[in-house]
Amino acid sequence: MIGSKTIKKFTMTNTYEVAKLPERILLGPGPCNVDSRVLEAMSKPITSYKDPAFLRYVEEVSEMLKILFQTQENTTFAISGTGSAGMEAGINSLLEPTDTIIICNCGFFGERMAEMARRVGCNTVVLEGDWGKPFPVEKLETELKKHKQVKLIAAVQAETSTGILQDIEPISKLARDHNAFTMIDSVTSLGGNTLMVDEWNLDYCYSATQKCLACPPGLSPVALSQRARESIKNRTTPPSSWYLDLDLIAGYWDRPHTYHHTIPISLVLGLHEALRILLLEGIDVRFERHRQNGEALRNGVVALGLKLLAPKESKLDQVTPIWIPKGIDGDKVQQILLNNYNIEIGTGFGQFAGKIWRIGLMGESSKSEYVLKLLSAFEEILPKEGFEIASGIGVEAASETYLSFD
Ligand SMILES: *Cc1c(COP(=O)(O)O)cnc(C)c1O
Repeated sequence: MIGSKTIKKFTMTNTYEVAKLPERILLGPGPCNVDSRVLEAMSKPITSYKDPAFLRYVEEVSEMLKILFQTQENTTFAISGTGSAGMEAGINSLLEPTDTIIICNCGFFGERMAEMARRVGCNTVVLEGDWGKPFPVEKLETELKKHKQVKLIAAVQAETSTGILQDIEPISKLARDHNAFTMIDSVTSLGGNTLMVDEWNLDYCYSATQKCLACPPGLSPVALSQRARESIKNRTTPPSSWYLDLDLIAGYWDRPHTYHHTIPISLVLGLHEALRILLLEGIDVRFERHRQNGEALRNGVVALGLKLLAPKESKLDQVTPIWIPKGIDGDKVQQILLNNYNIEIGTGFGQFAGKIWRIGLMGESSKSEYVLKLLSAFEEILPKEGFEIASGIGVEAASETYLSFD
């Protein structure tokens, strides 16, 4: 028989099993832990993307995103893809090869934007700030004087690679004054920091589900202004990426929900549940939870004798970068935490590779229990690696911080 040999060769053996994974405590820069209610929502039966029973949830996700992005004006929806898909959709849809983009860069993700913009072939101006500090807005002001017309100004609100929070309002003001659109990376800030899309006049914000929204990775929630959407419709050439054309994607989220591609049904249901949990907790309450756990962690870390990277004024509460002490093998400590304590932490990217640990306290992972567990693990591991710590001192400092909140 034709092909019978091949079939035999590729017959399934008995070695495959249903997926089994340990339940980690995810204290890296994303993904974070997910509430079991979100996983449950994702295990509902599959419907069609046009089934009214499902479209209800599509519309509710859009409504809840409006609350989270603080916008009535903008279209809110979720792109099928991770945060980088949101980034690339913005760059591909808002820029034509004849346009100019100015990127306010001071970290790994600003550099990723620049790479995508260069691939579109537009005039890509990258303004460099220092890694580990906010971007100096004066640089943008000076640069804008050199250009007759700038189409897009881009910045990262929460630079996960450096643990820095950027003040977005002055950037968007400058953009408005120069009649440019603003694109803001809110991947790590949405659900963790104040983000006011209408008040700050932002044209395009993209985020990701696996950071402060506490959902599995796979969707990129976005908010797109009407004028930015109009500009996509009026392009001289359509966006080079058909799949990431923001106007076409938005077309499915608008009534009557015209087919563009089959959106990942289960992920949308998961995001719906994650947003519902978030709004039930309350946006302000959630911010405050992130703030308190961030502060307790920082106080504990400092008590251990470790040094924080981010200056107080611009630190993020959901990502805390720590300098790896001299003589300590950062990767080894990371592995011990994973293997012996079931705790995942992150290390550095780009300029900070091998130099920092990054502790994420995002969404469901932002819990006092985890802060104390991590500090206590550091107290056990670091002395064995040659970094002296008085036992209990980090946990004590964090516990005192928690007491001071009551
Ligand atoms: C994580 C992250 C991204 C990339 O998101 P992916 O979901 O990994 O594609 C982009 N920007 C920032 C600031 C991030 O933290």
